[in-house]
Amino acid sequence: MNFKEYIRVVENFPEQGIRFKDISTLLKEGTVYKAAIDSLAEACKGKQVDIVVGPEARGFVVGAPLAYTLGCGFVPVRKPGKLPAATIQASYTLEYGKDALEIHEDAIQPGQKVVIADDLLATGGTISTTIQLIEKLGGQVVGVLFMIELSYLNGREKLANYDVHSLIQY
Ligand code: IMP
Repeated sequence: MNFKEYIRVVENFPEQGIRFKDISTLLKEGTVYKAAIDSLAEACKGKQVDIVVGPEARGFVVGAPLAYTLGCGFVPVRKPGKLPAATIQASYTLEYGKDALEIHEDAIQPGQKVVIADDLLATGGTISTTIQLIEKLGGQVVGVLFMIELSYLNGREKLANYDVHSLIQY
């Protein structure tokens, strides 16, 4: 299936000069959404996966159905202050300023095999921070999956030590 034709490119969102890749036009087509998740599940074939981790918020839309399909657990990574129980935090630098992500400290057991799923790989900052959190808890990242990869931003270089797979490339 040609997934790319279901992505809407929105000019100048959220800022002038940005060409935003909108996955909502893919998600609303049931057969295409299912095929995309099945294709990501296929990329996990032959791997033991205990947990799928998805970063807020679009990572939930990709990661949760992937976990359901694989029959494994789902763990959310969220912006600070959103998770109710004890968390650990890692921060990362944005173009302007800093941001941080959190995970529940008991969400992953040492040695568990983890796949990360998100909608889009840009610079790789979000996923590098997510990897830090998982590895701090002793999890082993066995794969990183995206619907979309912006190849020209070279996010893959930041993830050079990991098995990265994307369905759509720009
Ligand atoms: P990174 O941390 O630079 O790799 O940015 C990735 C994050 O930014 C992802 O979680 C995306 O949700 C978001 N993002 C950046 N550009 C786009 C876009 O064009 N469409 C949708 N999300 C985007």
